[in-house]
Amino acid sequence: MNSLFVKAQQLDQSDALKSARERFFLPEGKIYLDGNSLGALPTHVPARVADAVQRQWGEDLISSWNKNAWIDLPTRVGAQIAALIGAKPSEVVACDSTSINVFKVLLSALQLRPERRVIVSDIDNFPTDLYMAQGINTLLENRYELRFVKRADLEAALTEDVVVLLLTEVDYRTGERLNMKSITARAQAVGALTIWDLAHSAGAFPVALNDCNVDFAIGCGYKYLNGGPGAPAFLFVAEQHQSAPEPVLSGWMGHAAPFAFTPEYAPAASVLRFTTGTPPVLALTALEASLELWQKFSIHSARAKSLLLTDLFIEAMQPLEQYGFACVTPLEHEKRGSQVSYTHEHGYAIMQALIAAGVVGDFRAPDIVRFGFAPLYNSFSDVIEAVARLEQIMKTQAWKAPEFAMKAKVT
Ligand SMILES: *Cc1c(COP(=O)(O)O)cnc(C)c1O
Repeated sequence: MNSLFVKAQQLDQSDALKSARERFFLPEGKIYLDGNSLGALPTHVPARVADAVQRQWGEDLISSWNKNAWIDLPTRVGAQIAALIGAKPSEVVACDSTSINVFKVLLSALQLRPERRVIVSDIDNFPTDLYMAQGINTLLENRYELRFVKRADLEAALTEDVVVLLLTEVDYRTGERLNMKSITARAQAVGALTIWDLAHSAGAFPVALNDCNVDFAIGCGYKYLNGGPGAPAFLFVAEQHQSAPEPVLSGWMGHAAPFAFTPEYAPAASVLRFTTGTPPVLALTALEASLELWQKFSIHSARAKSLLLTDLFIEAMQPLEQYGFACVTPLEHEKRGSQVSYTHEHGYAIMQALIAAGVVGDFRAPDIVRFGFAPLYNSFSDVIEAVARLEQIMKTQAWKAPEFAMKAKVT
């Protein structure tokens, strides 16, 4: 452990993103390894939100839609996100929640292949993606076969009747990163469309949507993008698909001319047709301000650091495998996101004990302890200190205290 402490200190000294950490509020003594669930608060964000509240809302009132360009927040924020995910600025918009965006892009995909009848996804996909597909199928009177299969069976599931392949790039439990390019190509080879959920990708590493020829994508604003709790999500629609689907959530903000107030719906000729109602200005303000960090710090540096962080964590955790931890995150870099996960039969209680000791990770049923590494604000010393505190908990069996077995509503 001591030699790893020294290694961590050296890595911290040569860290190209060292100065990014000072731009976040991080509680004293706490090691926050849950930025994959809720990103930390950048120090400049509260003042920006306060300005939106006090000056823009308080003084400028409704003139702010023009004067403070509130109306362009969805596309402005979308363009900032586009730069991180390898898309054109005109292909991304910030709006609604990830779940709602799944609904919108999935229905759009179904419209583009009306003769086909199968929706394919990974049975271990994040549940909301699967649930939204189920809801859509109910709405459409079970017209579709929902082919949810194990990852190993995805290729075989891609037959000529598949409309769309709906996948999450990084598995929220194991942290495994899928090969977006080759999987997209395989789906497109049978004429299917692809939807990629970037919840654990955007802001963690550079995504290359255009290079991978992806059709649709969605993702979260509150994870690695640090947009704040419940931040607006985003959606990506490849240019060639922006004019065909007729939005079903056909709200006025997606209309070609919202302020013409005509009774007939006519969708905008841009990615705006996939928006619905009035944008959440305060939440978008926080997300927009957070995203400015990426003008100073590169997403490529973030990826390089993320791999070093997760490598170091995996190395430091090896001696703890004697306590029953088994790493479920792939060791190959190209198959890794920015989190590391272990199974442990007492994972829930252990994570509660660790949180009480000031190291915040989280637990995912049935038996996974998850550690997310946010390259903008996690340090290499954090990694070693987190493992040292976990080792102490395992050695002393502190996790066996009854209070750590009590399940809270949010895990
Ligand atoms: C976190 C997460 C979501 C969250 O969706 P919300 O609508 O924001 O609750 C969706 N998909 C994946 C893969 C996630 O990890």
